[in-house]
Amino acid sequence: MVFETQIIAHNEIAKGTHELTLKRPSDFVFQAGQYLQIALAELTVADPKGASRLFSVASSPYDLHKIKVVFRSSGSGFKDTLIHMPVGSSVQIEQAAGRFLLPQTLTRPHVFVAGGVGIAPFMSYLYQKIEDEWDYPIALLYGNQNPESAAYLKELKLMSSQHRQFALNEIYERPTPELFVTLASTYQDAVWWVVGPPGMVATTVNGLHLGGIEADRILTESFDGY
Ligand SMILES: Cc1cc2nc3c(=O)[nH]c(=O)nc-3n(C[C@H](O)[C@H](O)[C@H](O)COP(=O)(O)OP(=O)(O)OC[C@H]3O[C@@H](n4cnc5c(N)ncnc54)[C@H](O)[C@@H]3O)c2cc1C
Repeated sequence: MVFETQIIAHNEIAKGTHELTLKRPSDFVFQAGQYLQIALAELTVADPKGASRLFSVASSPYDLHKIKVVFRSSGSGFKDTLIHMPVGSSVQIEQAAGRFLLPQTLTRPHVFVAGGVGIAPFMSYLYQKIEDEWDYPIALLYGNQNPESAAYLKELKLMSSQHRQFALNEIYERPTPELFVTLASTYQDAVWWVVGPPGMVATTVNGLHLGGIEADRILTESFDGY
């Protein structure tokens, strides 16, 4: 199903990182972890890859009024057009899809590994969970070039100070398999959820395997296209 909706806010929330807020159509349903497609009626800057892209939803499924997505500017015609569209402009979105469904009930520890805007599906989940509360630890390993380019850092720090079951670990080094071998030993019993650009996801998974984490305890979502 395709919905026509409007941009209701646009903020640069970290260096080169844009959060777009869309009006949530009343029959648009999604679960934390899913993505949607945004399509633009016309491009003001030409783009060989066309006028649509996939974005994970970064806002809570409990927010019935808004849908948020987050992306880095890249110079692509699609994103340049989107960044310069005024509030009130219309875009088309498709019904949410995807099987990267974060667990509704926690029965063991979980580790979330986010590379850059790979934080989006975890934000959706954490915003929701904070209203639900939870009984098992969740650790977020959040990788960025530097704190200035880390979206939602303030919100995540607040969550980790207020929720004893949530720990934020900031990573400001290039991910290597060795780094994740070490981290695997810290969180041996956990289920691992890894989201980000394909290279970062592959490096992380490689390190986790070397660190002894079985494949069925590693779930991934690659932001193909980066
Ligand atoms: C399931 C899923 C969920 C996703 N969720 C998100 C999300 O939440 N947020 C998100 O940002 N992305 C997400 N993506 C990826 C997204 O759909 C895009 O593919 C990605 O953002 C790159 O789009 P782009 O327009 O920047 O680059 P593309 O045009 O697709 O080009 C790829 C790369 O080429 C370079 N490039 C492109 N044009 C230029 C230019 N004119 N000059 C210089 N360099 C250029 C950029 O480095 C760019 O990253 C997701 C993908 C999948 C499959």
